[in-house]
Amino acid sequence: MRPPYCAICNASHRDHDYESFTLVYFRAIAAPLEHEGHPENALWFCKDHVRYTEGKTEMSAIVAMVHIRAAVRRNAPNPWPLTSMP
Ligand SMILES: [Zn+2]
Repeated sequence: MRPPYCAICNASHRDHDYESFTLVYFRAIAAPLEHEGHPENALWFCKDHVRYTEGKTEMSAIVAMVHIRAAVRRNAPNPWPLTSMP
């Protein structure tokens, strides 16, 4: 198993406690490889981003990540609000 490493923000156990990471399993698209200790369809998420995986675990990890990244982006504060225009 790989150490916790958020699939969205790359936070690792150096940034947060191990307990604040969740391993989320998505739909398996390939049989797990014998030599690979980490399941292909499982990704770590930190406590800030694990909520974005809700309802997306029926997707494959690749498709789910497209949706999750888009949702995170939509939720982020606008980096260029119109009110900051000169
Ligand atoms: Zn994160």
